[in-house]
Amino acid sequence: MDLSYILNELGEDREHYFNAIAPPIMQTSNFRFNKVDELRAAFADEMSTYIYSRGLNPTADILRKKLAALDGAEDCLVFNNGAAAIFAAVLANVKAGDHIVSVSKPYSWVQRMFDIILPRFAVTTTYVDGRDANNYFNATKPNTTFYYLESPNSWDFALQDIATIAAYAKQHNITTLIDNSYCTPLYQQPIAMGIDLAMQTATKYIGGHSDTLGGVLSGSKTIIKKIFDSEYLNIGSGIQPFNAWLLIRGLRTLPTRLERINRTIKEVLAFVKIHPAVKRILYPFDESFPQYALAKRQMKEAPGLFSFFVQAESRQQIVTFCESLQHIQMAVSWGGHESLLLPKCAGLQDAEFDAANPEHQMMRIYVGLEEASYIIADLDQAFEKAGLK
Ligand SMILES: *Cc1c(COP(=O)(O)O)cnc(C)c1O
Repeated sequence: MDLSYILNELGEDREHYFNAIAPPIMQTSNFRFNKVDELRAAFADEMSTYIYSRGLNPTADILRKKLAALDGAEDCLVFNNGAAAIFAAVLANVKAGDHIVSVSKPYSWVQRMFDIILPRFAVTTTYVDGRDANNYFNATKPNTTFYYLESPNSWDFALQDIATIAAYAKQHNITTLIDNSYCTPLYQQPIAMGIDLAMQTATKYIGGHSDTLGGVLSGSKTIIKKIFDSEYLNIGSGIQPFNAWLLIRGLRTLPTRLERINRTIKEVLAFVKIHPAVKRILYPFDESFPQYALAKRQMKEAPGLFSFFVQAESRQQIVTFCESLQHIQMAVSWGGHESLLLPKCAGLQDAEFDAANPEHQMMRIYVGLEEASYIIADLDQAFEKAGLK
C-alpha cells in the first residue's frame, strides 16, 4: 500500500463528518442502539461494532487502520502507552508454568514485568544475549511459549537476527513479540520477517511532539482479537479519543520528520565521532558498529538515537558536561521535536564512578528537529566547559 495513501486517506471517511479534512474526536463513552437484536450481536462480539469506548472508538479506529497498514499487518490495537501494549500482549499469550526467553536488557518496565509480576503467576523468564540467535534456541525449554525481542535496543543498539529467530519460533510453536520502537515500521518490518506481534511506543516518533503517550501492537486478526477480547478490555488501557487524534496528526508528518532526523544525526555523529574526548560511538549504521552488516540487512535507516563514550576522569566531569548544555535538554524519552541527552551515570553516586568502566562514561543523545549546527555548537561548548578535550 502506498505510504502517502495510508497517512492521508486510509481509514478516513470524510463524507460522514462534513468533509472535514481532520477527523472528529469522537469523545463519547457509549454508543446507542435502535434494535435489541443489534445489542445482542454487539454483546456477543465487542469487536464487531461500537458499543463502549473501552473497546472500539471511531477516532481510535482511524489510527488502528493506518498503523496496521504501516506494519503490513492484518490488524492492530492502540493502547494508552507502549508499556500497556507489551503487558497485554505477553499476558494474553502465557499461562502458569510457561517459560519466556527474552533479550537481555529489555525496556525497564518490561524487565520489571518479567522479574516481579509474572513470577507471581509461575511464569519464568531467561534473559539471553540476543546478538547470537543460538542463545535463544539453547535457552528454549519444553515449556517455552514466548520469545521477547527488542531490536535494536535503545541504549546500546544490540540487534537480534529477527528472521532467523522468528523462523525457529514458528517451528516450535512459540509466540514472538518484538519492540520495534527504535526503527518504527517505516525502517523495519518485523511482521514481514515472520514475527507474530510487532510493538512500538507511539509516544516517541508517532506522537512526535512530546505531548502524548501511546502504544501499538500489530499482528494477525486472530492474535489481535484474542488480546482484544480479554486483556485489552479488562486492563482498560486503550487509547483515548483525543490522544488517538494527536497520534493521527503526528502520523501525517512522520516520514518527513524521520527524514530530517536522519540527515541531522549524520552531521551530529560526524562531529561527535572525531571529538578528542570521545572514545567510541555506538550507532547501528556506522561502519564501526559490531553488527553493522545485520543492521544494514534488516533495517532501512537508523533514526534519532546514538550513544557515545567520553574520556571522563570523574562523574563530576560528565555532570558538568550535561548541566552546561544550553539547548539540548536532559530528559527521558525521545522522538519529539527537541534534542535530548541522558548520561548513564545518572544512576550512580560520585564515589561509585569507575573511569575504567565504559558504561559509566556512556551518554545517549536523541537528535531532534533543530538545525545540526545548533546541536553541534551546544555539544561543543559543553565539552569545553567540562574540560573534556
Ligand atoms: C518508551 C519506550 C517504551 C514504552 O513506551 P511508553 O509509551 O512510554 O509506555 C517501550 N520500549 C522502548 C524501547 C521505549 O523507548
